[in-house]
Amino acid sequence: MQKVADKFEIKHMYIDNEKDLYKLQGSKYVQSDIGDTYKQAKVFLEEGKQVLFSGTPCQIAGLKIFLNKEYANLLCVDISCEGVPNQKFFNDYIKFLEEKFNYPIIDFKFRNKDNGAWNTARVVVAVVDGKPEKYIIPTSQSSYFSLFINCYILRESCYNCQYTGLNRISDITVADAWGVDLEYPELNKKFAIADGMSLVLLNTEKGEKIFNKIASNVTYNPIDIEKLKKYNHPLRHPSVLTDDREYYLELYKNKGYAALDDKFMLNYKIKKRTFIDKIKSNFNNKEKVDALLMTMYANPNYGSILATYSLYETLSSLGITSKVIHYDTKKGYCLDFYKKYCKFTDKLFFLSDLKDLNKSTSTFILGSDNLINYKTDSLTNIARNLFNFSNLNKKRIIISGSMGDWNGKCKKFYEHIYLNALFKRFDYISTRENHGQKVLQNAFNCNADWINDPIFYLEKEKYETLISNVKTDYSNNIMQYILYPTNDTNEIVKYFENKYNAQSVEFQGNSNVLSYSGFEQDISVENWLSAIKNSKIIITDSFHCTAFALMFNKPVICVKNTHAPIRFLSLFEALNINIPIIENVQEINKYNFEYDKQKVNQNIANIRNFAREKIKNSINSPKQNILQQIFYSIVVFIFHSSNYIIKNLGKRFSIKTTTQ
Ligand SMILES: Cc1cc2nc3c(=O)[nH]c(=O)nc-3n(C[C@H](O)[C@H](O)[C@H](O)COP(=O)(O)OP(=O)(O)OC[C@H]3O[C@@H](n4cnc5c(N)ncnc54)[C@H](O)[C@@H]3O)c2cc1C
Ligand code: SF4
Repeated sequence: MQKVADKFEIKHMYIDNEKDLYKLQGSKYVQSDIGDTYKQAKVFLEEGKQVLFSGTPCQIAGLKIFLNKEYANLLCVDISCEGVPNQKFFNDYIKFLEEKFNYPIIDFKFRNKDNGAWNTARVVVAVVDGKPEKYIIPTSQSSYFSLFINCYILRESCYNCQYTGLNRISDITVADAWGVDLEYPELNKKFAIADGMSLVLLNTEKGEKIFNKIASNVTYNPIDIEKLKKYNHPLRHPSVLTDDREYYLELYKNKGYAALDDKFMLNYKIKKRTFIDKIKSNFNNKEKVDALLMTMYANPNYGSILATYSLYETLSSLGITSKVIHYDTKKGYCLDFYKKYCKFTDKLFFLSDLKDLNKSTSTFILGSDNLINYKTDSLTNIARNLFNFSNLNKKRIIISGSMGDWNGKCKKFYEHIYLNALFKRFDYISTRENHGQKVLQNAFNCNADWINDPIFYLEKEKYETLISNVKTDYSNNIMQYILYPTNDTNEIVKYFENKYNAQSVEFQGNSNVLSYSGFEQDISVENWLSAIKNSKIIITDSFHCTAFALMFNKPVICVKNTHAPIRFLSLFEALNINIPIIENVQEINKYNFEYDKQKVNQNIANIRNFAREKIKNSINSPKQNILQQIFYSIVVFIFHSSNYIIKNLGKRFSIKTTTQ
């Protein structure tokens, strides 16, 4: 990065010589100035020169509009882009660092690879003092990096970016292969994944041809992008607009970068929290309730929202007052739904706000959904979900917790010790899948009941009341709720449209993550539920949609969902039915989709009665295994408070799970 007249200028430039390539290398997480490069590119293209233009997808879109014609000699390369902060903001950060170090900064690298680590990126600051020196700032301690990576400070337009997803504007897209170690562990034999691995998407024939020319010089392996896109949000949807953005930018505007840095670092240094902050949070969360619920309430998924609602309502029907812990500050229509039906704690802004929750309840309940899935979440989040912040004297309960298809193995042995200690502090555990029950027994020596999803704990009449005001009539439609659409699922839907001579109504699911990303989502939770209750037939790859369809005794076609096979199998086992899960249209005629509705109703009633009994008992009975809990609370305390460990557990101790 070039510093000109006291400022870093991040700008596009051209090179025509391999030895100058270094000038372009390195990600700069700042908006770059395109300058004259569109014009220069046009001149070179008209002269017949081969031009490779790289940049953010919107810059490539700008180039294409500017050129207004196709050029065979143009190759466009973009990045998987979560967005950019502006240059003034970045330069204010640099000024802040200069004042802190008391030296001028002459260079800055966002992703230092000195120690070979790609996913524990470091900020490097070079300082002049006769001879330049290097400083490495861990990303978690760089306010700029952390604000960027958590998408708090991007340009406003980035939250509505039109260039995300897999339908790319360029011939080639480059990104980080986040998640490759989890999805393709066998590749470790071929590559040193820990040293870094890039993801290259070949989007056009031209891109493919160029790659084939250099293929013999690179070590690569084809992958299924469907598996990796879930770890890289710009390959699915734009960055999520959060309330925090407004908060931080206001602070920056009114008080300058130093005030922003100071406030931000409170997230990491609990001790530095001011007295006023503490009073404020005490005041806001002082109302006492019987239980506080940790759920996946902010997940952009109708099922997760209704699972939270159902657990909250179940407790309320048992005379247990509760609130949902509001730990996620993202915007979304789901909060509008909850406002009508559930109580929340105030938004938790600092990690220490979690500690303060101890004052407002005697019981912490972890609700259903993927809250303990080591394969999809960071250890920080899982530890929070398992109430690492809760005081020794509190009761801790897991109701229908889910760990997906995680087999209980951790990458590092101390991660296992930490999770083991967290589980051992619970007074009662039930898991949603019988798989989870086995994992807890085998990997952590913990007993757990197997109780299916909280949506079954309420009578179906309760849901009928919920949807009684929905005006849309779905009775002539087929309901389609496919979280991971493919050509096969489209064909299956078409088949049933023809068979029933009915149009399908499509409810969008995770792959578009509409509501969560600040997009307009005008189809309410109530509408979704009403469509299940009233459509002719339901076609879905969603666990909760299937569960509701069965509860309403509707015909349901289950389509294979590679992300969640275990939860389906466990559901069918709990209801003692055998519903086929199909992969393509050819399989339809092989199976009978009928099921025994009476048996389903009886088994749902059994789950409901069992769950309600267990919830009541676990909340009302005295605390269990006190000595064991004291011992493991000490272990948790050591893990929770040891800076050394937090630093050395590396990326799994990131503040939030987010791709970069
Ligand atoms: C603002 C930004 C956001 C990103 N977000 C993600 C993400 O969410 N997920 C992900 O997997 N990867 C993301 N990346 C891409 C990632 O950081 C790497 O650039 C990519 O994986 C390629 O790495 P590399 O080491 O091969 O190339 P690099 O040497 O890192 O360079 C990548 C290319 O991008 C160009 N470039 C660098 N900075 C900018 C900029 N500010 N504006 C325009 N072009 C630039 C470089 O000149 C080079 O051509 C982002 C990159 C940027 C610049
Ligand atoms: S997120 Fe979209 S709009 Fe923002 S810089 Fe990236 S490509 Fe451009």
